[in-house]
Amino acid sequence: MAITDPVAIAGAAPLAAERAGRQAPGEPCVLLKLGEIVLKGHNRQQFERLQQRNIKDAVRDTGVATQVLHREGVVLIRVPREDRTEAEHAAAVEKVAARAADVPGIVRVCRAWRVDKTPEATVAAAVELTRGTTGAFAVRPRRRDKRFPITSAELAVIVGREVQKAHGLPVNLKHPATEVFIEVDQQEVLLFTGGEPGLGGLPVGMSGRAVALMSGGIDSPVAAYRMMRRGLRCYFLHFSGMPLTGPESIYKAYALVRGLDRFQGDSRLFVVPFGKTQSALKSSGADRLQIVAQRRLMLKTAEALAKRLNAPALVTGDSLGQVSSQTLPNITALDDAVTLPILRPLLGMDKTEIMAEARRLGTLSISELPDQDCCSLLTPRRVETRARIDDLRKIEVRLEADEIAAELAAGAQEYRQERAGGARRPLD
Ligand code: ATP
Ligand code: MG
Repeated sequence: MAITDPVAIAGAAPLAAERAGRQAPGEPCVLLKLGEIVLKGHNRQQFERLQQRNIKDAVRDTGVATQVLHREGVVLIRVPREDRTEAEHAAAVEKVAARAADVPGIVRVCRAWRVDKTPEATVAAAVELTRGTTGAFAVRPRRRDKRFPITSAELAVIVGREVQKAHGLPVNLKHPATEVFIEVDQQEVLLFTGGEPGLGGLPVGMSGRAVALMSGGIDSPVAAYRMMRRGLRCYFLHFSGMPLTGPESIYKAYALVRGLDRFQGDSRLFVVPFGKTQSALKSSGADRLQIVAQRRLMLKTAEALAKRLNAPALVTGDSLGQVSSQTLPNITALDDAVTLPILRPLLGMDKTEIMAEARRLGTLSISELPDQDCCSLLTPRRVETRARIDDLRKIEVRLEADEIAAELAAGAQEYRQERAGGARRPLD
């Protein structure tokens, strides 16, 4: 088939006019490939709607006006050109792509060109896309619109021939240096070379909600991130040692939540001053059980808060055997404190692995800032590594622990992360 043949295609978008006066042979846009949600059978539509809403909310943070369009298994983000120059428009698209890369549930983020739904426009864009590349190339076409009059195989031949002719590059379908992806859609043709991996996982909200216990340490932000990535919206709960300590750990928790907010948006941090309760535990003779008893009280408080927030699970950064409160008998004693499931995504990870992930997320440098962690207060000389549940329960009966937990949860102070443009509530 001669590529100069005029091919009239129903549904082709009037891109030629939009492009008039521009250098680029297409409109720069962002193509997002959705991951596991495309596998979810009859719930798929609901999940895709949720994903689309999450993407819309996230890209709104950039301040760039966008059009978020749903296509089969992919989401297309268009950025109206408005009165931007070509370079300004490309920069705005880049900003949107970078922001979308932090949305869980997306497996690939592709900077693409959107062109007229014609073989001519497709070829012109492919030639432009491969300009300046070296080494072999391969054309990878795909038709989501089967009405397109040229099959994928034919399109590959036509585009391949013209790219070869224009740049003299060899074709290698097995090991190409450059892959030219061509996706024929209902409205348009999208072209891109590669793209970068997204976070993967599931859209936030798809798995429900949980309360994540957030110290100022290294592990808990990573744990919360892992659960957000699996579709859980996390509310954060931090216990400070106040009034026995200063407020530094709260600042850290707040900074950590702000850093993690890009994965879910509208994050809420609840802060509970825990110092007095820790002192009460010590006075009640907890002794070697002090740490595990404190952790049980934290969990009971978290459970009370979770019930108020309609969240049916808790998340902690426990890793098996990492510290004395995380031995198997102590973890069993912690589970006994509450009825809600405690999710521990880091249970099987080494500290070095957790630190590498914290570094990648940008939370490590915040976690490493000095503060006085409430858990390190009132630490007994020897920590019990095989806490007996009966002993812990006796301490809690003496202390009326459930009432304390309910009061602490009711008195938790809330700090919200507002969306970009909204006011952030100051800590002081
Ligand atoms: P991290 O590095 O996150 O502080 P860690 O290795 O220091 O964890 P622990 O201090 O035993 O371990 O805490 C285990 C988990 O208990 C934390 O990951 C967190 O989920 C919860 N936790 C501990 N201290 C606090 C706190 N002050 N506020 C809220 N949650 C806490
Ligand atoms: Mg800690």
